[in-house]
Amino acid sequence: MLKKLILVLNCGSSSLKFSIIDPILKKTFVFGCVECLFLINPIVNINVNSKNYKKILPNYSDHHNALNFVLNFIKKNFHNYYSKIYGIGHRVVHGGENLNKSSIINHNIIKKIKKASIFAPLHNPSNLIGIQISYKFFPHLKFKNVAVFDTSFHSSLPKSSYLYAIPYKFYKKYKIRRYGAHGISHNYIVKKSQKILKKNKSSLNLISCHLGNGSSITAIRNGKSIDTSMGLTPLEGLVMGTRSGDLDPAIIFFMYKKLGIKLDDIEEILTKKSGLLGLTEKSSDCRYSEKNYKNNKKAKLSIDIFCHRLAKYISAYSSLMKGRLDALIFTGGIGENSSLIRKSVVSKLELIGFFIDKKLNISIKKNKNYFINKKNSRNILVIPTKEELFIAIETKKLIY
Ligand code: ADP
Repeated sequence: MLKKLILVLNCGSSSLKFSIIDPILKKTFVFGCVECLFLINPIVNINVNSKNYKKILPNYSDHHNALNFVLNFIKKNFHNYYSKIYGIGHRVVHGGENLNKSSIINHNIIKKIKKASIFAPLHNPSNLIGIQISYKFFPHLKFKNVAVFDTSFHSSLPKSSYLYAIPYKFYKKYKIRRYGAHGISHNYIVKKSQKILKKNKSSLNLISCHLGNGSSITAIRNGKSIDTSMGLTPLEGLVMGTRSGDLDPAIIFFMYKKLGIKLDDIEEILTKKSGLLGLTEKSSDCRYSEKNYKNNKKAKLSIDIFCHRLAKYISAYSSLMKGRLDALIFTGGIGENSSLIRKSVVSKLELIGFFIDKKLNISIKKNKNYFINKKNSRNILVIPTKEELFIAIETKKLIY
């Protein structure tokens, strides 16, 4: 019999993901996504007990419309799940410097989330809308709303890794520093790896690669994040679907001063038109680059640049491990699915002891084994990330 379920909400910049999960059985009953918010024909997909329901929302719908639609739909059609909702877990992208652990949401927490919006202007306000609408639908659960921050796993970063080499006052006065992101995923990877590798968190040393539409890599020593590739915002680091990742900041001055491109347009170029999309001039979807790897030069180049950058980061992070590295982990849509990217990256890492097993690499999805390394290699694992489950479990810990 169903008991207490957790509604998990992830209000992204132009999407909404939701699920209803039993955090004890670790079972998801309802999940879905609304895509293309603020555009024409926003699409809602709701999956309940393996059956998919698809709807189109009115043009230019925002998070308010989308969430109202989704919750009313579930309330009306799947009241058996809706009525068992006992708590709501919200993914909050940026917690700033002060919100460094999951917290029951109250007036003070909301104030701090608003304050951190300066660093995540597209995400934190959407997260706040999610909270506001949860209060409306579940007024009796007001103090059973929990914020789980994507930045909090990185609150253990040492100063040497979170400070930029710019005048110190920009940190002191304006809090400009590395905050990182994808902390929920990297934290889940730590928990899962403990079980797979049969190790205590306090002695676990990993390099975790979350490769999706947004990608980041984290060096984890003794179970804690000690360096990560995303910075003040998710723009820094690896090559992503539409984000450039690392570049010489002088490129921005060049675009602005010499090419006369407006600052807002440069921001749009670097965040929405770069990465795989910019390089292929076709698609931000890694599947496109992979499919055309052999017959299209730009597609090949996009993967080569992606892997070159990633291999550099892995090698650099291995030097932070004090000689003890338990595993290299791949996760996220690309990390879990692209055998080509895994093979190409690992082929550059033989010097630091990583050798991929070609057969295991290709068959990993079917095998349900996590290991893809050769016997004489350090561990290389593919672990599907479960951010929603992680949020549900964090929520349960605070409210049950
Ligand atoms: P998000 O960052 O939005 O959570 P995901 O982790 O879902 O993204 O990853 C989305 C990315 O995963 C897309 O770029 C997509 O191309 C890639 N992807 C999904 N399936 C495959 C596959 N079979 N091969 C290569 N890439 C894949």
